[in-house]
Amino acid sequence: MARLYGSRKKILVTGGAGFLGSHLIDRLIEQGHEILCVDNLFTGTKANIDHLNGHPRFEFMRHDVTFPLYVEVDEIYNLACPASPIHYQHDPVQTIKTSVVGAINMLGLAKRLKCRIFQASTSEVYGDPIVHPQVEGYWGNVNPIGIRSCYDEGKRAAETLFMDYFRQHQLEIKIARIFNTYGPRMHLSDGRVVSNFIVQALKGTPITIFGEGQQTRSFCYVDDLVDGFIRLMESDSDITGPVNLGNPGEFSIRELAEEVLRLTGSQSEIVFKPTPEDDPMQRKPDISKAKDLLGWSPKIKLDAGLRRTVAYFQKELAEQHAI
Ligand code: NAD
Ligand code: UDP
Ligand code: UDP
Repeated sequence: MARLYGSRKKILVTGGAGFLGSHLIDRLIEQGHEILCVDNLFTGTKANIDHLNGHPRFEFMRHDVTFPLYVEVDEIYNLACPASPIHYQHDPVQTIKTSVVGAINMLGLAKRLKCRIFQASTSEVYGDPIVHPQVEGYWGNVNPIGIRSCYDEGKRAAETLFMDYFRQHQLEIKIARIFNTYGPRMHLSDGRVVSNFIVQALKGTPITIFGEGQQTRSFCYVDDLVDGFIRLMESDSDITGPVNLGNPGEFSIRELAEEVLRLTGSQSEIVFKPTPEDDPMQRKPDISKAKDLLGWSPKIKLDAGLRRTVAYFQKELAEQHAI
């Protein structure tokens, strides 16, 4: 589709009412683009995009990506998919359909429009990794029949589809393997560890560590990640394979709990709950590829990012009179 106004693009963001999608949209709007946000509001909320209501370059469409979508755009970011284990395990069949059928529909759309398409993949494609830190060349260690498989295998199949549409139809594709990301606009009951711990600390309820808290994760602040998304999307057309995007700072869940307690000054006790099935023991991105190809590396350290996130949850909880 011909662009009417120079470098201004019409960009489709699926999952745009979610945590990452809404931040991405803010950045793209700031850059002067026109946005079509498509979301079925399964885990996303209108509150995340409320501030864009009435904006002349923003449009919201309530739609489920497992159904075909016929629109005219210049670029597609495909983020639609629940990301928190409690959410993606709530309706596993819908989760895998969202990843696989959603990818087919968005790839079909991109093929018809001959436009570039970006896939929000995940570090979960590495499963419970044996190679540490994880490099893009590692094929992973994934249980195909477990309770996390609807998400992990769905995202792996989506990557396969992206690579096949590239090889078979010469589509311009970008695949970001996103590692744990946190920040404002995570839902209060999102269920992922950073929001859980902060909300628990602020409410003074027990901090729930699953297992002994020795498992590790690497936490990236949302603003850094969005910067990586846009750099990857705008990278040279010969960059097609997956690129890890995440913060290589690695922390045990126990360390995260202690950091949240320190930053909030909370008196919450720590309680230990059973480890969820197939919970990966370690995770840390090797980001050499993102550094070399995109000149990208995260800037915001964990304590600085957590402070901003705590401030957000303080405001949210105060508005709900929950603290
Ligand atoms: P989120 O749950 O806040 O956002 C997902 C959005 O997708 C929500 O707005 C939801 O309503 C929407 N959605 C779900 N199913 C849909 C469907 N069938 N049709 C249309 N919309 C649908 O999660 P997030 O953290 O913002 O994650 C965004 C993307 O990034 C996801 O694809 C996720 O797998 C990926 N990702 C996120 C992280 C992270 O740490 N945040 C890590 C790895 C990958
Ligand atoms: N599709 C869509 N929007 C479009 C074009 C295609 O949603 O503008 C969907 C449609 O459901 C189709 C899928 O994308 O089944 C895959 O399209 P593709 O052209 O690759 O395959 P085909 O149409 O031959 O099945
Ligand atoms: N976790 C925890 N307490 C919680 C939520 C999560 O100890 O209240 C642990 C979880 O078992 C996992 C890690 O924190 O080891 C990260 O979990 P999350 O759901 O945030 O992301 P993912 O497992 O998908 O990386």
